[in-house]
Amino acid sequence: MLKKNYQFWFCTGSQDLYGDECLSHVAEHSQKIVEELNASGNLPFEVVWKPTLITNELIRKTFNEANMDENCAGVITWCHTFSPAKSWILGLQEFRKPLLHLHTQFNREIPYDTIDMDFMNENQAAHGDREFGHIFSRLKVERKVIVGYWADEKIQKQIGSWMRTAIGIVESSHVRVMRIADNMRNVAVTEGDKVEAQIKFGWEVDAYPVNEIAEAVAAVSQEDINALVEEYYDKYEILLEGRDEKEFRKHVAVQAGIEIGFERFLEEKNYQAIVTHFGDLGALRQLPGLAIQRLMEKGYGFGAEGDWKTAAMVRIMKIMTQGMKDAKGTSFMEDYTYNLVPGKEGILQAHMLEVCPTIAEGPISIKCQPLSMGDREDPARLVFTSKTGPAIATSLIDLGDRFRLIINDVNCKKVEKPMPKLPVATAFWTPEPDLQTGAQAWILAGGAHHTAFSYDLTAEQMGDWAAAMGIEAVYIDKDTTIRQFKNELLWNSMAFSK
Ligand code: MN
Repeated sequence: MLKKNYQFWFCTGSQDLYGDECLSHVAEHSQKIVEELNASGNLPFEVVWKPTLITNELIRKTFNEANMDENCAGVITWCHTFSPAKSWILGLQEFRKPLLHLHTQFNREIPYDTIDMDFMNENQAAHGDREFGHIFSRLKVERKVIVGYWADEKIQKQIGSWMRTAIGIVESSHVRVMRIADNMRNVAVTEGDKVEAQIKFGWEVDAYPVNEIAEAVAAVSQEDINALVEEYYDKYEILLEGRDEKEFRKHVAVQAGIEIGFERFLEEKNYQAIVTHFGDLGALRQLPGLAIQRLMEKGYGFGAEGDWKTAAMVRIMKIMTQGMKDAKGTSFMEDYTYNLVPGKEGILQAHMLEVCPTIAEGPISIKCQPLSMGDREDPARLVFTSKTGPAIATSLIDLGDRFRLIINDVNCKKVEKPMPKLPVATAFWTPEPDLQTGAQAWILAGGAHHTAFSYDLTAEQMGDWAAAMGIEAVYIDKDTTIRQFKNELLWNSMAFSK
């Protein structure tokens, strides 16, 4: 998914007040930190050491070089000694990439037996980083602050987690969404201002006539289709459920043609996300089901019924999790139906067809079933149940004067019994803090029925992403109470009003 070999620059702040010897120690220490961070295995991207920043000119030059370097996804700063923060003003004002202020110190423990004033002057991040932090607040520059000892695994993992947020921030402006259908008639929450989305997030959201992509599907050779159908039959269980085997295979082959044709069309036109609509399929013979599920698995964003905001969010969240060890998956999702039995409350998640198989646990099967909506052939789709454990569900909505990202911590569970008659992939979760409060807060916030869902990202990462985009984020989690949440919405409406 990522076409660039992203790196993060490590810039250490200091000044020349304490002489060259002190500065050589500063450089030595920060180089050692960078080496050990890279060797730790806890960071998903490489850190690149940069010469110590001590003057206004060098700071400004370094930040502008970081802006221009397309492999640089962000800068990590730390003031080993004291670095007068006025020197940073121009550089920070001109800097446009994610910034992490790592508030750390080279030594872990105070060297009680040997400490003297030279040591104090050389190791004064506790004091220098406060001066440094002040200027960000004064300039209202968005940044992440991580506090702790740099060699601790916990801190390294926090840096790694921020790196993924930073990738979501820098990659947001490379997201291009292909709309081959408009928003579903009369539906409000999936609508939005595409110009404002491009201004805020950098997304390009373009429409194509559905029959242009249908032509790309029709152009796929029978040979290519057969090969992909073979791959499906190898990889997935086939659930005929009484259907004729030949007829079943033909239905599956239609999805194989859609997968290949769509992917070629998206690649050729450089789009990383797509929206469809069951009511606007042109010459396509089936609603893209299995095909869209496979494209999502490959990293494409997707939103159904013309939902381009969710499609872009799914793409961004997939990019943020790329290469993650033991990733559990990220998908487009929809709140479908409740279980309201006391003690077993939860929401059954699904869609007509389009749930990403990265979230699957256990066998994945192909089924062909009629759709109650639309007027096409029975589409083939992948059916499975999903993993358990904590995850997040997010919804980006357009409130007319601003965007709001709603982030809900959820706990995914297995349903009590199999659902043999349900021909779609599912997940089941209980929102934090409980179904009643979680759903109440979600509805008060105006969250959609469609979500971008991930086991592999945290509310903190998505909230930091939203902050970098300059939009409102609200969290629904274990600490949410309705009284507090309503106040938060009210206060935010003041803070974000223009
Ligand atoms: Mn839907």
